[in-house]
Amino acid sequence: MNGTALQSFSNISASEVRNTVVWFSHIGIFKEVIAQGFDTMARGSSRNATARSARSAARRFRAVDGLAVFIIGESLRADALMVERRGPWSEALAKRLKLGLGIRFSDACAGGNATYTSVPRLLTAVDPTDGVGAAQNPTILAVAKAAGAKTAYIMNHESWVVPESGHDFIEKTSSMEHPAFDDEVVVALEGFLQRSGIGPKAAVLHLYGQHFNYQDRYPPQHFPPEPLDLDIERLEALRYGRAAEYGVKILLDAAEVLDKQTEPAFLIFTSDHGENLMLDHTGKRYHAGPISGLNDTMVPALALWNKPFAETGRQRVLAELISPSGITHRDLANAWLHLLSGAPDPLAPGNQPITWGSLEAGSGNTALNCRMLKP
Ligand SMILES: [Zn+2]
Repeated sequence: MNGTALQSFSNISASEVRNTVVWFSHIGIFKEVIAQGFDTMARGSSRNATARSARSAARRFRAVDGLAVFIIGESLRADALMVERRGPWSEALAKRLKLGLGIRFSDACAGGNATYTSVPRLLTAVDPTDGVGAAQNPTILAVAKAAGAKTAYIMNHESWVVPESGHDFIEKTSSMEHPAFDDEVVVALEGFLQRSGIGPKAAVLHLYGQHFNYQDRYPPQHFPPEPLDLDIERLEALRYGRAAEYGVKILLDAAEVLDKQTEPAFLIFTSDHGENLMLDHTGKRYHAGPISGLNDTMVPALALWNKPFAETGRQRVLAELISPSGITHRDLANAWLHLLSGAPDPLAPGNQPITWGSLEAGSGNTALNCRMLKP
């Protein structure tokens, strides 16, 4: 244990968490900090922060009362969100948007095609070329905390991709050995809200999403038996589609939590990166491959809100995130902070659509214009 790790441990040992089950997740963050510390020493790399603390964020604004949720999906490609006639949840979400309780944005260019590239960039709202900032800066959740919000960091992914201590509520609902379905994340969010009272509250939820193996990401009883005559490409596409449809249910569950709040409440959702499927016939599978492409880099994005939020009119600025020139992960992170601040100014998106990746195998990562990506 080095000095930084020890300091991080003392930071997360606040008395209010010592006696709760949630405390075990703080231990999980601590373990991750140590593991990544060893990893960094061994590799001599700065792939990840070794001891990020919410307490290092400076106060940029004062958060308004209500609930702000940022949901990070996993491996959901742009064309897989809310597909017509795929299932009842896609239909219900489309209906909610029509009612004016949400908006789907233009598809976003992720900061990279791999989890450990894109999530640190998204959560720190840095330019994708700023690897040092992504590895060290406080997250947008830490900025929310500095702005006076009570904060919850809830993780259903197999590992803490961006470990950050110092939040009021930290819970990990899944592990590589015991993966949970993403509905656990919504249960944990409700647990946080029951403890938090009125005032500004902010939560980051990191989902397991549509991470391979796709058939393990949804409870099978929600779907009919798989047809027996599918070839391997169609079977993969069916399972991925089912995982994506179940992902829509999770968004609806989260929207139900927003609807239960008497204060203004909103969420912004995007995926960490996309996914390649065999049915694309590009020769690529999954994500994090050596060549960045449209399917693994472009992701869907949307916002949902409750009626008290709609009455504030703050959602109007979000129309700027429907743009023919496209939007980026960074635009979404900044929009979330903007809504949390309650500022009436326009959003002014238009960050350069850049991703951190490569167009050629073996050439090393660099800044790529997202418009140059091919399937
Ligand atoms: Zn990922």
